[in-house]
Amino acid sequence: MGLQSKIRDLKEAFDQEISEIDHTKELEVLRIKYLGKKSPIQALMQELRDCLPDQRPEMGKLINTLKEQLSAEIDSQFHTLRERELSQRLAQERVDVTLPGRSSFMGRNHPLTQMVDEVVEILIGMGFSVQYSPEIETEYYNYGGLNYPPDHPARDMQDTFYITPDILLRSHTTSIQQHIMENSSPPIRILSPGKCYRNETITSRSHVFFHQIDVLYIDRDVTFSDLLATKEEFYTKIFRQKIELRVRPSYFPFVEPGMEVDIRCTSCAGSGCQLCKHTGWLEVCGAGMVHPEVLKAGGVDPEIYSGYAWGGGVERLFMLRHGISDIRLFTENDSRFLSQFS
Ligand SMILES: [Zn+2]
Repeated sequence: MGLQSKIRDLKEAFDQEISEIDHTKELEVLRIKYLGKKSPIQALMQELRDCLPDQRPEMGKLINTLKEQLSAEIDSQFHTLRERELSQRLAQERVDVTLPGRSSFMGRNHPLTQMVDEVVEILIGMGFSVQYSPEIETEYYNYGGLNYPPDHPARDMQDTFYITPDILLRSHTTSIQQHIMENSSPPIRILSPGKCYRNETITSRSHVFFHQIDVLYIDRDVTFSDLLATKEEFYTKIFRQKIELRVRPSYFPFVEPGMEVDIRCTSCAGSGCQLCKHTGWLEVCGAGMVHPEVLKAGGVDPEIYSGYAWGGGVERLFMLRHGISDIRLFTENDSRFLSQFS
């Protein structure tokens, strides 16, 4: 069979096939079949070499024309089919304008992160700077350097997670104190926020994992009145109302004298309610004047300098402010709880 009739047959076969196609996907298969690398047109080009030299230009021209024709027909058919498919889709897919829109979900900080940020901002405004201490701590920074004698029962007040006899998960952020005194000299005016760990039974009021903020101020002539005034201003800002303080004697090895600080109940103003367990007062933190032995251990002369320290739980602060009664809510990851505080 001559090349000319092969070209004609090929065109007839193509016309037949394209007339049966009714989808763009099938058309793409056809395009590859007739115009791809292994197409019959390529085979014809191979055959062209066997033609008599004087026939070659004419035959070459016929093959090229065929190629152009097929390409043009496929393109034209493609546009026709695509438009048809598009209008079919539009007819099928109705937009229901009465459906509620999809709101996008915005991430937000955890309530405790928000609380820490707020505390930090307030204290920075009062002249303190932020310092961080390690969560995995040595016995010295957590206890020994804070005037806890070895085997002293005070260590049992904070059931500690020991990793080795000398390495532990810090039980309070007070562990910052000797780090700071080792690396700087008075005046020292810092706060240290962070996670703390204690081996306690998880209940609505205690957890193995919680956040604390510790404050330390060491300078010449720092007095008890400075401590009370700073605390009063701090809690007034946190609770966004005028706060009345009271202190009760307490024992912490790293302060002398040591005290528990209460504030007049922010919910009932002292008349008694569920939040304050009808006492009229809310316990907010432990505090005191830095113990001379702690200053000495840090290389600070207690004859020249004095200081105050206080530390409190971030969870507790947040719970008091928002009237939350269960500390476990912070770690349960229930977005219904978390999303209330954005
Ligand atoms: Zn109350």
